[in-house]
Amino acid sequence: MYLRGHGGVELPRMKEPALLRPIEHMELPEMLRFSLISPNFGTLVCQVKNGQRVKKYDVILTAKETGFAIYAPATGRITIEDEYLSLCPTKIQSAFEETPHPVGRSDLAATAKLMGIIDEIDGVPLYQKLIGPVGRLFIDAYDEGIYHCAASRLLAERTEDIKEILEWLSEAMGAYESTVLVDEHSYGRIREQLDGQTFYKKIHGKYPILPQIEQKLAKNRRYIRVGLFAALSLLDAVKKSVPQTTCVVTVAGDCVGNPACVEVPVGTPVGDVLRYAGLIGNPEYVIINDMVKGHDIKNAGVPIIGGDVSVLALSKIRQPKTVKCNGCGACINACPRGIFPFHIIESFKRGNMEDVKNHHPEKCDRCGCCSMICPANVEPSRQVAEIKDKMGGGVNP
Ligand code: SF4
Ligand code: SF4
Repeated sequence: MYLRGHGGVELPRMKEPALLRPIEHMELPEMLRFSLISPNFGTLVCQVKNGQRVKKYDVILTAKETGFAIYAPATGRITIEDEYLSLCPTKIQSAFEETPHPVGRSDLAATAKLMGIIDEIDGVPLYQKLIGPVGRLFIDAYDEGIYHCAASRLLAERTEDIKEILEWLSEAMGAYESTVLVDEHSYGRIREQLDGQTFYKKIHGKYPILPQIEQKLAKNRRYIRVGLFAALSLLDAVKKSVPQTTCVVTVAGDCVGNPACVEVPVGTPVGDVLRYAGLIGNPEYVIINDMVKGHDIKNAGVPIIGGDVSVLALSKIRQPKTVKCNGCGACINACPRGIFPFHIIESFKRGNMEDVKNHHPEKCDRCGCCSMICPANVEPSRQVAEIKDKMGGGVNP
């Protein structure tokens, strides 16, 4: 039995979706690992020494460029390897000093920075979004991805907290409109918990809906979109004085015995997360995050990092048949960055580099919308990315 997914890809169907179970809280594994190079922050600088003992919530790494901190999710001893910093946890916990409740925008931004909060919708440190006043504020509880449901579970279980942080953020940011975005599909399953509430707005549409929303919102520059878990982490940081040291991930796929949303300490190796959720069979694909923008990993020791939202273990993915590009132009309409994938690819094939440059492939952020929509399954997203690389990358504006 297969689910027909995006762009005709067929995914294995699971016995019981994770959305129907409460969020589980995973205990600390034997070893937590932190990569010394992060896709979001670049090089990280160790703030600890090999063999050193650290307390829970001590700063262990900082981003070289921004100074953004990553905190120890546990008390334990540090080992530094070539690519990783490892922390062997012990049971001893440490208290974190109380901080006063912030009220203003700069206080919330400072707390988000101090407490190492990363936004799961894009991997950006949350404080960077809380810089200027905004007109519209959106907390994103949209589970984009066929198996994803972590945001919906949080929505069902922390409704009152969500209303509170929405109010705080709205007031601090001076927003004239603020709401929580919920996808229609998940809403149907948690309808009871949301009955009578008015703080959310349902969004309709086909995957990938979020870039389409961004495209509409881009006309009004004064808006921000904040991930639900990041917003809740900010609330916890203010009220309980705890930094962000966990992620809520959907652990799913036909090779997972008990699909569930699990709160996982950052640094936990993916293999431990899968074993926790009951690995069955031998997955051909283990994918971190979105099926389009995420990545397939080959090493079970790869750690969960701040901002991760899912771990998928799949026996197989049936790729749809690829046919020749028919020039339909659907990829052009789908691109939220306003570039023309079809023209870029065609001009490149003809060797007309001037024309390629004029269509700005460097603006592509690999969102995957064009590949999702393409009826010929020729993966324009991959092709544009390859052209961008061949042309020396360039900087996203
Ligand atoms: S992957 Fe690149 S070209 Fe394709 S829709 Fe996204 S930004 Fe546009
Ligand atoms: S790449 Fe796909 S979506 Fe774009 S024009 Fe060709 S067939 Fe249409």
